[in-house]
Amino acid sequence: MSDQRSSDDPRRAVPRTDALLAEPAVHAAEQRLGRDLVKAAVQRVQGRIRSGELAAPDAVAAVLDALPPTAGSLRPVLNATGVLVHTNLGRAPLSPAAVEAIAAAAGTTDVELDLRTGRRGPRGEAALDALLEAVPAAEAALVVNNCAAALALVATALGQGRELVIARGELVEIGDGFRIPDLLESTGARLREVGTTNRVTVEDYRAALTPETGAVLKVHPSNFVVRGFTRSAGIGELAAALAGTGVPLVADVGSGLLRAHPLLPDEPDLQSTLAAGADLVLASGDKLLGGPQAGLVLGRADLVQRLRRHPLYRALRVDKTTLAALEATLRGPQPPVQQLLAADLAGLRARAATIAGRLTGAGVDARVVDAPGRVGGGGAPEHPLTGVAVSLPAAFAEPLRLGARPVVGYVEDGRTLLNLRSLLTDDDAALADAVLEVAEKWT
Ligand SMILES: *Cc1c(COP(=O)(O)O)cnc(C)c1O
Repeated sequence: MSDQRSSDDPRRAVPRTDALLAEPAVHAAEQRLGRDLVKAAVQRVQGRIRSGELAAPDAVAAVLDALPPTAGSLRPVLNATGVLVHTNLGRAPLSPAAVEAIAAAAGTTDVELDLRTGRRGPRGEAALDALLEAVPAAEAALVVNNCAAALALVATALGQGRELVIARGELVEIGDGFRIPDLLESTGARLREVGTTNRVTVEDYRAALTPETGAVLKVHPSNFVVRGFTRSAGIGELAAALAGTGVPLVADVGSGLLRAHPLLPDEPDLQSTLAAGADLVLASGDKLLGGPQAGLVLGRADLVQRLRRHPLYRALRVDKTTLAALEATLRGPQPPVQQLLAADLAGLRARAATIAGRLTGAGVDARVVDAPGRVGGGGAPEHPLTGVAVSLPAAFAEPLRLGARPVVGYVEDGRTLLNLRSLLTDDDAALADAVLEVAEKWT
C-alpha cells in the first residue's frame, strides 16, 4: 500500500489503514459509529502524518479525536436567540422524561399490541388518553405528523370537492413560504373567502353557507396582528350561528397551549376553544406544548373517527417515538419550553451577571443588557417577553456558531447578544465555556 512509506524516520511512516482499524479503541468506535465514518477519520489522520503535521505514534489518539460524537450529524446547539420556540433550531427542546420515553420506545415496543391479550391494540392509546385528560372538553383525539398535516387531513376529509369557509384575514403565510390557503387548496377543497382583510362578521360567515359547505375553518393568524378598524368573529358566536346546520367548526390554534396561560393572555388554547363551541381544534406539538413535532386534532368523536378512517390518515400518522415523547411531555414534569416561559426578569439578570462576571474576569468585554425575547413558532407575536442578554463584541457571533458546542445568538447595534430567555439555566456554564474558548483562540 502507498501508505507504507519507506523512510528512515519511523515517525514519518504512515500507519496502515487495517492496522489502525484493528486498534481496540478504534475498533470499538467502529462498532458504535459504523465503518465509513471511522475509515474517513483514519484517512484524514493518515493525510496529516503524510504531510508531516502529525507524528505516527500519535495516530490512534488523533483518529479518536477526529471521530464525530454520533453517527448522525445534527448537533446540540445552545439557543441564545431569545426565541423560545425557534423553528430553525428544532423548536421545542424535549424534556428529559420525553427523551427517556423515546429511548424506551426506540426498539421493539408495544405501540400497537395489547400485551395482556397478545392481540393487536389501538395505536398510541396511552398518548391519546393523556391528551384527553389534559383537554377534558375533547371527546376524542388523533395525532398526525404536524399541524400542517392536521390541516391537510381536515381539508381533505371535510372539504375535498366542497367548500371551506374562511375569513380573508386568516389566509396567512406561516413562514418559509408556507401559505395556509395553498395547502388547503392543494387538497381539492375550494376556499370560500369571507369578510375583508381587517373585518369579518358572523353574518359574513352565515351568508356564505351553502349545501356545498364542508366546514368553517378558523385559523389563528399566529405571526401577525391587524390593528385599528378591525373585527373578527369569535368561536362562540360562530358556533351559535352554525348550530343546527350540520357544518363543523374547525379551529387551528397553532401554538398548542392546552389551557389558557396567564403570561400569554391573547394566545388561544385547546380547552377554551373547544369549550367555546369548536367541533375540532388543531395544534402543533412542538410549540408551546413543548413536545415532539406533531399535529394534534381534538374534538367531536364522530369527526375524529372520520379523519382516522380516511385513507390519507395512514400517510400522516406518527411513529412510536413521537407517541412516546408526546405522552411523556403531557404526563411528565414541566417541559423546557414552559420553564423558559416562566423565567422571571430578576432571575435572568442574576444569571447574566454570573456569566458576564466569569467572562470579564477572563478579560472579555462582556456586559449585561435587557433584551426582549419572543415565543416564536408563530406564537404570541404581540407579546414580547422580558429578557436579558450577555452583550459581547460583534466578532464573537460567527466563531460561537462554529465552535465545538455551537451557540446561536444575534448581532444588534454592533454587538453580539446572547439572550438567556431561550436558554435553560443548566446550559449557562456551557455558554460561558463556549465564549471563553473563542476568546482564548484570539489571545
Ligand atoms: C405553526 C402553525 C401551523 C403549522 O404547524 P406545523 O406543526 O409547523 O405544521 C399551522 N397553523 C398555525 C396557526 C400555526 O401557528
